[in-house]
Amino acid sequence: MTESFEGKADVIIVGGGSAGVSSAVAASRSGCSVILVERYGFLGGTAAASMVGPMATFHTKSGKQIIGGIPEEIVLALIKNGGSPGFVKDTIGVCSYYVPFEPEILKLVLLTTAKKSGVKLLFHGWVYEVIQKKNKILGLKVITKGGPLILKGKIFIDASGDGDIASLCGVPFSLGDQNGLPQPMTLIFKLKQVNQKEITEYMLSHPEEFHPETLFNELANSSHIGVSGFFSLWKKGEQTGETHIPRDRLLFFSGVEPGEMMVNTTRIIHKNPINPWDLSEAEIEGREQLLSLLQFLKKRIPGFQNCVLAQAAAQVGIRESRRIHGEYTLTEKDVLKGSKFKNAIARGAYPIDIHDPSGKKIVLKQIGGDGYYEIPYPCLIPLKISNLLITGRCLSAAHEALGSCRIQATAMASGQAAGTAAALCIKEKRETREIKIQTIQRKLREAGAVI
Ligand SMILES: Cc1cc2nc3c(=O)[nH]c(=O)nc-3n(C[C@H](O)[C@H](O)[C@H](O)COP(=O)(O)OP(=O)(O)OC[C@H]3O[C@@H](n4cnc5c(N)ncnc54)[C@H](O)[C@@H]3O)c2cc1C
Repeated sequence: MTESFEGKADVIIVGGGSAGVSSAVAASRSGCSVILVERYGFLGGTAAASMVGPMATFHTKSGKQIIGGIPEEIVLALIKNGGSPGFVKDTIGVCSYYVPFEPEILKLVLLTTAKKSGVKLLFHGWVYEVIQKKNKILGLKVITKGGPLILKGKIFIDASGDGDIASLCGVPFSLGDQNGLPQPMTLIFKLKQVNQKEITEYMLSHPEEFHPETLFNELANSSHIGVSGFFSLWKKGEQTGETHIPRDRLLFFSGVEPGEMMVNTTRIIHKNPINPWDLSEAEIEGREQLLSLLQFLKKRIPGFQNCVLAQAAAQVGIRESRRIHGEYTLTEKDVLKGSKFKNAIARGAYPIDIHDPSGKKIVLKQIGGDGYYEIPYPCLIPLKISNLLITGRCLSAAHEALGSCRIQATAMASGQAAGTAAALCIKEKRETREIKIQTIQRKLREAGAVI
């Protein structure tokens, strides 16, 4: 294999997840040539490869919509293609509405949206090096089946979730909580032939066994439910040695089709997702937990006696890895106060949701004020580099704040903002710090974003 490969575009985006696709679509619709490079052979990132859902959240706890634009367009396309019932009530009571979706349909919807918008896709490409001159990126080196490939561009967007590009450029980052431990990883799986009616009947007759905010009065009439609890049965499983998972409850959500459940209950702690040996152990542990969990569900949990494993995620889900340092770092206080910023480019309304990095608990802290906070543009600008933006899970946020803003609807909204800002840099021939915030905001509003 001696052939050498190259690609060239105005904007190069790394990562085809929620944030990367929105960035690419926004930049392309604004008239730029765009290459999106993704290490898998499909789009969707964590939402598809790790089967993470439901999509949260487009609304405040009181039901006000705070995200529109490309993220909302994706939801409408999912509904149209039979991949989602749309916004449904969160029966666990953590947020007001979320969006159940089928990961396979999401892959198709994102692919169609990206292609229609003119995005050039490079699949099966893994970025491993940056070509840099002082504080500017000139290109990226991508490893492919055919050997190394060089991508040259003017503006780059790191939507890798792990902040790979910023870190390759030497931008400082943090990892984890005050002890350096990131949130646990989880291998999600889908079951079919689950009897939802039996689950809800058990819930209604044992309300003390479930998350206290559960909307019991909605359960019977909801086609799609979320369930957090089964505390005593779970404890019994621990005592009998049937489960060995460091958590205190079962967590699962209805899939799109009747009888499907997406189980979000495995928990892998004390592993660093950017250490390849830790990540490998996490994949192994996730599948081992899946096996024991499946047997436990069938034996102990009402409604699961006849369940069948339909699919396990291709990759363990990573809640948190590198937190890249940007010109502004979103703080826990910003999120909890519902802070607003003059230079806002996106909004979030999901509570701070931290799965204990070293133990069994889940900590949930609701947003104050009017129920949503804003993300300022400097959270998308990494320190040091003049032509790179960071978005989605790797935008600049503290451990606690990331517990909220990592969520898919907000990741897509910050993605749309990054793509819009990148396009403006190209049009005006400016660096990321030089463009006017009012122009980004105007362009975002014109494209349906709520800011
Ligand atoms: C277990 C779990 C449960 C969650 N629960 C929910 C939930 O209920 N609701 C919700 O809305 N959110 C939830 N989240 C959060 C949410 O799913 C993610 O934070 C969000 O999807 C991240 O989107 P992203 O685009 O920033 O990153 P990702 O979706 O991770 O996309 C990054 C993409 O970059 C690619 N990539 C990475 N590095 C490279 C490289 N070097 N070269 C090329 N490609 C690269 C990856 O393959 C991937 O496709 C959960 C997350 C986890 C892990």
